[in-house]
Amino acid sequence: MAMKIDANLCTSCGDCEPECPTASIVTKKGITKIIASSCTECEGEYDKPQCVKVCPIKGCIVKA
Ligand code: SF4
Ligand code: SF4
Repeated sequence: MAMKIDANLCTSCGDCEPECPTASIVTKKGITKIIASSCTECEGEYDKPQCVKVCPIKGCIVKA
């Protein structure tokens, strides 16, 4: 139960990072990643993954 970021599409704009309720999005060396072990797909907090909601690139964040 986790989302993942397609590295080929992500521009590391950082928009998704502050929206994550579980602080599962990190950017290191210019690459933004979702920590699968703590991503809950926002279940219980929002009706839709917040990272997907704010990401400007369609299809960039998908189910892992
Ligand atoms: S789906 Fe929710 S918990 Fe998972 S990375 Fe995106 S915002 Fe964070
Ligand atoms: S909002 Fe989308 S493009 Fe921006 S860092 Fe997050 S996953 Fe990458």
